[in-house]
Amino acid sequence: MRVNWRYIKPARNSYAALYSACEKSGITLNPVDFPEDDITLYSLNSINASQYLDEIKNADCITIAGGPHPSALRDEVLEYADYVIVGEGEYTLPALIRAIETNSNVLPAGVATKNEYKKNDTCVFLDAYPPFSKVKGYIEISRGCPFRCAYCQTPHLFGGMMRHRSKDAIIRASLAYTDVRFLTPNALSYGSDGKKPEYGKIRNLLAGFDKEKNLYLGTFPSEVRPEFVTKESVDIILDYCSNKKLHFGAQSGSDRILKRINRGHTTDDVLNAVDICKENGLVPVVDYIVGLPFETEEDQMETVAQMRWVAKYGKVHAHYFTPLPGTPLFKMSPSPLIPEVEKTLGKLSLAGRATGSWIDTELRFFTKN
Ligand code: SF4
Repeated sequence: MRVNWRYIKPARNSYAALYSACEKSGITLNPVDFPEDDITLYSLNSINASQYLDEIKNADCITIAGGPHPSALRDEVLEYADYVIVGEGEYTLPALIRAIETNSNVLPAGVATKNEYKKNDTCVFLDAYPPFSKVKGYIEISRGCPFRCAYCQTPHLFGGMMRHRSKDAIIRASLAYTDVRFLTPNALSYGSDGKKPEYGKIRNLLAGFDKEKNLYLGTFPSEVRPEFVTKESVDIILDYCSNKKLHFGAQSGSDRILKRINRGHTTDDVLNAVDICKENGLVPVVDYIVGLPFETEEDQMETVAQMRWVAKYGKVHAHYFTPLPGTPLFKMSPSPLIPEVEKTLGKLSLAGRATGSWIDTELRFFTKN
């Protein structure tokens, strides 16, 4: 059977990871620009899913959809796709392809059809699958997140328990690159339960790389949580890494909103993280979500004040709130922005101190990756 991967740019890292996982089972995923042959696979996020609906519905082959959107709204996606993979695909996808090839009546757990769905109650052991092989991707070092930020799909997709790739497997993957960048929900949580940094484990990992490599931790493509930014964690970055910036999420300048969205940190943690960066020569790049539900004018003014302060020492990265399926805020509407938010972000942007998409929500999904 010929198995195709519908190439969609924002899903290219999923392609790399699943190419490698399928390769282990003797299955090659061929990139295509439209559905063809026997099976075509789709990885969809909640912004681009609607663009592929008709294409999948009219496909002349078996279609399998996975990723954050199908995982959260499997019944909706099964209106047009034949199979949905809910959650992680490394084990489930090759097992499903083999089940289709052999006409088996038994589908692997984690696969949904219109007639059946058995929840997968296991999770992927990262060392069982290289993060990529021939199709290059990021080096994913950790997966899962113990926090439950109300707007985020990560814990719903990958679970609340952090899993880490071993140092040896990470270093093996790094041989493909001179500049080594890591994919993780929180780069400073490596080796830990995700709630408190394990400095020794981060240091041990970074010390194991070839000295010729340029390591980037806590910057693109993964950020860190502000309360993990401490003198000790910054010292580790300065000792081993090439990044001059540290990227972390503040999300709101209002403690009331941080509580409502279950962020698990305070505004003081953000101010402290900026101070530590500034005192140690790292440029803080701080994420905000503007238009979060429950925001009052006062909450937005607190965010504006914090963004202005952050911009004196670093950069602001702002996005307008998008309610994502599978998250507690899915049914919530964004709060309208007071003029001061757009005015401030516009000014900061002109001064080169702010980036993002606080007007067009979709831009984040098409440009950030
Ligand atoms: S935003 Fe980050 S810390 Fe919060 S749940 Fe998502 S991955 Fe975890």
